[in-house]
Amino acid sequence: MKPFLYYKGLRDLSQEITGNENVYLGIRPYGFHAGNMLPFIIYPLLICEELKKRDITPRLKFHIFLNDWEQDQLDGPDPINYPFNVYPANTTFQHVYVTPDKKKNIVDIWEPVIVKGVSSITKIYPETSVKAIRNSSIKNHPLMKKYLLQTLKNPEAIADILRKHTDKVVLAKPLAYAIAVCPNCGLVKGQTTIEYGDTLKHKCSFCKVVTVGEYDSFDFWFYHKPLAIPRLEIFNIDFCITGGDHFSEGDYYIREDLIKLFQAKVKPLIVLYTPEVLGYNGQRMGKSKKNTVIIPLKQLINIVKDNPRSKYIQINEK
Ligand SMILES: [Zn+2]
Repeated sequence: MKPFLYYKGLRDLSQEITGNENVYLGIRPYGFHAGNMLPFIIYPLLICEELKKRDITPRLKFHIFLNDWEQDQLDGPDPINYPFNVYPANTTFQHVYVTPDKKKNIVDIWEPVIVKGVSSITKIYPETSVKAIRNSSIKNHPLMKKYLLQTLKNPEAIADILRKHTDKVVLAKPLAYAIAVCPNCGLVKGQTTIEYGDTLKHKCSFCKVVTVGEYDSFDFWFYHKPLAIPRLEIFNIDFCITGGDHFSEGDYYIREDLIKLFQAKVKPLIVLYTPEVLGYNGQRMGKSKKNTVIIPLKQLINIVKDNPRSKYIQINEK
């Protein structure tokens, strides 16, 4: 299979589908802005529009994968120059609490906002569906467990795949693509190894506590690239929609090789990449860049259609 790029790719892909597909949408459950609107609302709407032109009723099933196992912030020797030698600065979103009793985390705040945004598709195309899946909810699925343990056991195999497809240097150390959340202090700092079978040992470099326990007794940080594979397999995904910034970093070919590494039984990989949205200051839009804006849907759709092959679309200041 091949990657599909931008609005031109969207129209090509729309010719090849039946309208009943399982669609993969992945997000850091921490914000929802114009940069997210492209893969999450506008591209789905435009695919439905193309299906309608073929007299097909869109019945796409949109799976929103809320990655509550993602780091709150990246840390590492130098996340810009060594983007594959990274780990969480503190912990995962699952463990970022917004109430003192730790009953509510940051994902509880953002999940309804994201689901509401994506559900605007079902208002226009009522036979489509939207379902949100937190990563933590599939921790005990046998495939998630299998690939996470495999990642813990052999991070080198993942690093070799990344090395093959990136121009960036992947350092020999530090190298981890899965780390447990320390059950004592709740931070993701330290090292997790397999003791035997599915029993893990986590040495926390923050509180210094060493915990030995079964897989089920830990929560995890799991690097988003290997993490994508069990999701594809568990939910029988037909195609993915994601931001073009991932394509530039070799995402499509990395995913293909990870599928081979894990021997995952997934459908041929189809990924539709959206253009990157630039904020009014010309920088890629993102919460960390502090240049997020909300612009009317119709206006954004017109910009997308006017730039069918563009890698970037620019939002101008009002
Ligand atoms: Zn600790």
